[in-house]
Amino acid sequence: MKAPGSGELLNAWEQSLGKPLLPRVLILLAASCPEIPADALAKLSIGQRDRQLLQLRTHLFGQRLLSTAVCPQCGERIEWESNTTDFIRKMPENSTIADEFDLNTDGYALRFRLPNSLDITTVINTPSDNDNAEKMQQHLLSRCLLNAEQSGKSCDFDQLPASVTRKLSQQIEQLDAHADIRIQLNCPECSHSWTVLFDIAHFLWTEVNEWAQQILQTVYKLATGYGWSEQEILRLSPVRRQLYLGMLE
Ligand SMILES: [Zn+2]
Repeated sequence: MKAPGSGELLNAWEQSLGKPLLPRVLILLAASCPEIPADALAKLSIGQRDRQLLQLRTHLFGQRLLSTAVCPQCGERIEWESNTTDFIRKMPENSTIADEFDLNTDGYALRFRLPNSLDITTVINTPSDNDNAEKMQQHLLSRCLLNAEQSGKSCDFDQLPASVTRKLSQQIEQLDAHADIRIQLNCPECSHSWTVLFDIAHFLWTEVNEWAQQILQTVYKLATGYGWSEQEILRLSPVRRQLYLGMLE
């Protein structure tokens, strides 16, 4: 992975506009991992993809994560701070395409893989599913099931008993445990403690979007002030852009 330059990041941001969140973050990843083909990035398990996103975040904006949450007990808004490297350290390093796994349970032999961004996108975009969490979960599981047999006879996902699909779901959760990044929070007002899910895809996209608005403003001011082209301005280091901006004011 490399940190994309300002010009590359701005291009990736522009390509992402008007797209849903998942394709957006895959475009950002493609700009920073040119060594991995785009379809392989889309096939990373969610935990593997989020590990890459955390690394990209570290390259672009540093390790420190700052955000806010509202206490569910007393409504107090609290600020929390965390660190990308703490999350990365806890995640498996394997960044290749998700492997296949076996599960033998209740007389059934299953072969499956972990859910990836393509699965999530498909499930979200299936109109009959997207108002029913249970249906979405079943659709996702059926996509991840590669093969199922009972006493040597192959069977479809729909033929599996609920106990078997439940175990499949549990197994997937265990194997891709880092697909959900959870943060423990404590309220200083009422001492309530709870966990929040941290969505690195949403978090990083928001930051890149803010960065893009800001850099476009900078390009506009420097181009107007000095007559430089957009490319020339984007090639400057952030420090020099800031210094030249200061000289205009
Ligand atoms: Zn509270």
